[in-house]
Amino acid sequence: MSLTIGILKEKDDQRVSVTPDNIKKSKLKEATWWIENGAGAEAGFNDAKYEGLATAKDRNTVLKEADIIISIFPPDDSDLAQIKAGALVISQFRPYQDATVNDKLAQYNFRALSMDMIPRTTLAQAMDVLSSMASIAGYKAVLMAAQKLPRYFPMMITSAGSIRPAKVLILGAGVAGLQAIATSRKLGAVVEVFDVRAAAKEEVQSLGAKFVEVEGAKDDKGAGGYAVEQSEEFLQRQRAEVQARAAKSDVIICTAQIRGRKAPVLIEEATLHNMKHGSVIIDLAASTGGNCAVTENDKTVRLNGVTVIGNSSLDRDMPEDASQMYGNNIMNLLMHITKEGALDLNMEDEIIAGSLIKA
Ligand code: NAD
Repeated sequence: MSLTIGILKEKDDQRVSVTPDNIKKSKLKEATWWIENGAGAEAGFNDAKYEGLATAKDRNTVLKEADIIISIFPPDDSDLAQIKAGALVISQFRPYQDATVNDKLAQYNFRALSMDMIPRTTLAQAMDVLSSMASIAGYKAVLMAAQKLPRYFPMMITSAGSIRPAKVLILGAGVAGLQAIATSRKLGAVVEVFDVRAAAKEEVQSLGAKFVEVEGAKDDKGAGGYAVEQSEEFLQRQRAEVQARAAKSDVIICTAQIRGRKAPVLIEEATLHNMKHGSVIIDLAASTGGNCAVTENDKTVRLNGVTVIGNSSLDRDMPEDASQMYGNNIMNLLMHITKEGALDLNMEDEIIAGSLIKA
């Protein structure tokens, strides 16, 4: 018997977790696909585009009858209660942010695989939704900053005079930060970057940006590639260094995060009083507290002529490509967890052991 895979409609997001193109290119044979009515419409994929690939069904049918249920955000409590025993729900449950997730899932008889728990290894790169979405956010952050900035990004030499290139400061050189560097450089800006992981230095430099080193950063190779919390003494020295650079910057893109913790505050309110009028800060770490002391999540704050935009959901602003990329990650995962058309959840496999949060 073949697996029935159901794609849910997101409740507050234009993206869809699997696109028609993802299914068309899939090497997953013998699967029956269902799409919740209208799930892809806002990302540009109406039900007609799924014709011949997936059958449109109502939400209850998908929840109650599918063997595998896929979404970007986890279904809510009333949805979870409808899912059949033994089904597999693939979503982003974020158990590292919400300690109640595991207890909640323990009440049910379905299994749950959290895409955001897939280890950040080379082997799992093709399934890494955190990276594909962070990359979009980094790109969009720079475009948003360029739009808000009352100055040019590139150097301009015109008959009306010359303009210096904008200076962009990037805090955190993970996936979003690296994409922000690349995008800023393409727009002609001069870029400086802070990170606490030694491995970031070479990546930053290879993209043509300057890596600013603050002595004494704690870097733990055993943290799965993630940064670890720094001492208050280190952060104070880092904030002073950031302040000196911020005064000369036109744009700051904040991406510094510690997984499962509050984001480090690297820009104090006083720093904004030293910045140039019209400068723009885009804080992608806003949902975990932000890297700037005045950041408010999902809000824009203006202080001393500096605009501070707190937004950790910029990946949602590019629903078509974001859906395509999320779906590619899902398809690669499905190939990994199935064998001859059936689920094969081998807990000795590092990717499955890391992400199957409810077996
Ligand atoms: P993240 O969102 O957790 O953090 C963003 C960045 O903030 C990180 O680079 C982190 O070092 C940095 N940071 C934390 N505290 C800081 C501070 N005080 N000052 C400056 N920077 C600070 O990171 P992410 O983008 O999710 O990436 C996490 C890790 O996974 C990275 O090491 C990344 O290179 C790695 N990764 C590896 C692969 C792979 O295939 N091997 C794929 C994707 C990501």
